[in-house]
Amino acid sequence: MQPTSDSLHLGNYLGALVNWVGLQAEFDAYYFVADLHALTVPTDPEVLRRRTRVTAAQFIAGGVDPEVSAVFCQSHVQEHAELAWVLACQTAMGEMNRMTQYKDKTSKGHNANVGLFTYPVLMAADILLYDAAFVPVGEDQRQHLEITRDLAERMNARFGEVLTVPEPYILKESARIMDLQDPTSKMSGSISSDKGLVLLSDEPGRIAKKIRSAVTDTDAEVRYDPEAKAGVSNLLVIHSVLSGTPIAQVEAEFAGRGYGDLKKAVAEVVVDAVTPFRTRMAELLDDPAELDRILARGAERAAEVAAATMSRVRDAVGL
Ligand code: ADP
Repeated sequence: MQPTSDSLHLGNYLGALVNWVGLQAEFDAYYFVADLHALTVPTDPEVLRRRTRVTAAQFIAGGVDPEVSAVFCQSHVQEHAELAWVLACQTAMGEMNRMTQYKDKTSKGHNANVGLFTYPVLMAADILLYDAAFVPVGEDQRQHLEITRDLAERMNARFGEVLTVPEPYILKESARIMDLQDPTSKMSGSISSDKGLVLLSDEPGRIAKKIRSAVTDTDAEVRYDPEAKAGVSNLLVIHSVLSGTPIAQVEAEFAGRGYGDLKKAVAEVVVDAVTPFRTRMAELLDDPAELDRILARGAERAAEVAAATMSRVRDAVGL
């Protein structure tokens, strides 16, 4: 996950972090703050440094256990950039030209740099360095995983079996949380207005206020219908995921009641989930030396695997 804002939001939490926490029991997992990727967007150095630390602290506050999984910063493991270069030299211009995310971003008028153009190559390196068998991705990342697989297969065909070809681990059940003010768009740290986002750093009063002013509709019927009733459906999803109650049951509970009641209940479950999170985050940020130690240990653990992969690659390509 990239350190692109001062706090993760509810979408990041329910759409990504919660899954990561679930996967760490079953898999030997690597979770990192993608600070090299964040350089593709010009950011003040101090801001980037702060966001990188906050994002790492939020992984841990959200339940990623650094004793179980490797939690680190991408730039602390230098092999990411090194493998990306080797892979870039095996990548055709046309392959990168076809990447839809790049096309989307540049068509929206983003001033692209070469780093943004070759972003999928760095992402391939991020995955291949760790001999990853699976990559937990949403549908939107499928294309990036395909290019990763292509590059691994190409390297293996040209230089012998050096890289593990990863499989997607598609999180189908994963919740997609929508913007509170514009429920037809996803909640996004880089796009949504502050009012449309529930930040994991928000105080309880602020969370309640944002949910109270969430956009709904005028027919005053609590019913799950993401097409016709995007706002109400989003509130139902948030409630359902956080309370562990099926959507139909939440719907039944609020049948015949007003949106005010639903919003109040949603605010309560969100505050209940976010409060312990905020406490843990504050502890981590209050003790920078401890966070440094955690991240250094994570980088050490990651570097062990990354260095072994890179050594095979160096031998194979003749460096
Ligand atoms: P943002 O749009 O806020 O910049 P990113 O694109 O950096 O978020 O996504 C980071 C992670 O959080 C990804 O795994 C992504 O799938 C997940 N994510 C982001 N927004 C949402 C959302 N609204 N609902 C569910 N998951 C989300």
